[in-house]
Amino acid sequence: MSRFSALTPDFKNMQTYRRALAKVNCYQPGKPIEEVKRALGLGEVYKLASNENPFIPFYIRKAINAELKNINRYPESSSFYLRKKLAKKLKINPGQLVFGNGSDELITLTLRAFVEKGDEVVVSCPTFLIYEIQARISGAKVLRVPANNLRYDLERMAGKISRKTKVVFIANPDNPTGTYLTAKEVGRFLAKIPKGVLVFFDEAYAEFAPKDFPKSLEILKKRPNTIIAKTFSKAYGLAGLRIGYGITSKEIAGILNKIREPFNINRFAQVAAEAALDNQNFLKKIISHVKREKRYLYRELKKYSLSFGESATNFVVVDFKKDTGKLCNYLLRKGVIIRELKGWGLPRYFRVTVGLRKENKKFIKYLREYVGARPAWPSTKRGKP
Ligand code: PMP
Repeated sequence: MSRFSALTPDFKNMQTYRRALAKVNCYQPGKPIEEVKRALGLGEVYKLASNENPFIPFYIRKAINAELKNINRYPESSSFYLRKKLAKKLKINPGQLVFGNGSDELITLTLRAFVEKGDEVVVSCPTFLIYEIQARISGAKVLRVPANNLRYDLERMAGKISRKTKVVFIANPDNPTGTYLTAKEVGRFLAKIPKGVLVFFDEAYAEFAPKDFPKSLEILKKRPNTIIAKTFSKAYGLAGLRIGYGITSKEIAGILNKIREPFNINRFAQVAAEAALDNQNFLKKIISHVKREKRYLYRELKKYSLSFGESATNFVVVDFKKDTGKLCNYLLRKGVIIRELKGWGLPRYFRVTVGLRKENKKFIKYLREYVGARPAWPSTKRGKP
């Protein structure tokens, strides 16, 4: 048996589960630090596999400590204070917000609310896997549209829309490709999409995107059948607390709030998210850190003639030109967890999250060691190119 845990269910002796589940693949998350330490007996492990924030937002400690005295009580179901603060910041009606246990939950809620057996859901391929997993759980037929050079092919996606289509998922920027769609591209796409089709913009990485990124709140004003999903897991550094939210029309928010579990956002997540909204300095710090470190990684990858695309996110995708399984394993044994993209149908690619400089350096060190390469040119003080 593998030293790593697997939660794949054994259905052999169960006759009663829903048929739709037979077609559902288990989501394989990046390996947790604790598990790798345990399994490989390593003291220090760097995780660059799940696009998390490398900085710990210690400033939330005060809010968390203050909330301790209430943990014997259920949290407020409406996330009242957080809702009020966020609505004010976004200049929207508080009734347009839906909070989720991570933005993942917004995907689940949306499919539960809008999709029945036989309905169709359109996704790009590759993209964030949860859309397809959850759509299949809902019994939907999933239409995958191959990406073009790791970018969404919006033209072909629009061409897949039929009377059966209920939801189209757009991860912008996308995971795992790291590419993004501009405001113009999204505008042209929406012009072709019937008003009755729900368009789900997943903006988990929007904070890292360039300036020509779409203004989705403006889109929502003109197109109520739209959901914009955001998260506190990435740029805000609260992945461990699990909180994200959807911005949508009051009607759709009402439906999603009806079906979500009443206490899906725990007390700590509510107060920490509020503190995060109050501390824009942390956000600015991580955004400029990621920009700087991406430049470092690009520079180093170029030295070893490795191909990559410029990323609109906090991770970089590398075309290794050959299977990455052995490389990822090698790095794992050295205590650096990165992500193979085999599960997305990209066995030649890997994804590495931007970490602290010391983590990125270690990743580069072992990558260099693995490829056994000498730089194509000697490094200078300023770096090249
Ligand atoms: N959307 C995308 C595109 C993601 O990459 C992720 C996390 N990897 C999520 C949504 C979910 O994030 P969370 O549930 O932590 O908000």
